[in-house]
Amino acid sequence: MEYKIKPPGRLTCLECGNEITYGRMDKKFCCDSCKNKYHNKQQKDARNIHRKVMRGLEKNYEILNRLHRTNITSIGIGDLLSMGFRPEYSTSYRKVNSHDEFRCFEFKYYISQTRLFNLQKVFTAI
Ligand SMILES: [Zn+2]
Repeated sequence: MEYKIKPPGRLTCLECGNEITYGRMDKKFCCDSCKNKYHNKQQKDARNIHRKVMRGLEKNYEILNRLHRTNITSIGIGDLLSMGFRPEYSTSYRKVNSHDEFRCFEFKYYISQTRLFNLQKVFTAI
C-alpha cells in the first residue's frame, strides 16, 4: 500500500484520488458517482470473501463426512491438505486441555502440528 503525504486542508477522493475542492472537511469523495463506485466495490469484496469462506467450509465438511463414513478418526495433515482440506476454515474453535478443538458444523476434531485426530460427529449446538 502506498501512502501519500497530504498537505493539511487538502482532501482527496477515496475512489479516484482527485482533490476534493469543495464541501465539508470530512468529505471522502469528489462526487456521488465516486461514492457509489467505492461502496459497490466494498460490497463486492465482502460478498467474495463470504463466498470463499462458505466454499471452504463446505469442502471441509465434505472431506470430514467422507472420513467419518469410512470410520477414519485420525489422518496426517499432509494427506488432509492433499484432499483439499483448509484448516483455517472452521465454525468454532476452543482450547480443550492442551488440545486445539475445532468444529465444522456437527464434526468435532483436534488438530496438532501433524495430524487431525479424534474426529467425531456430535449433535449438540455449536
Ligand atoms: Zn472521485
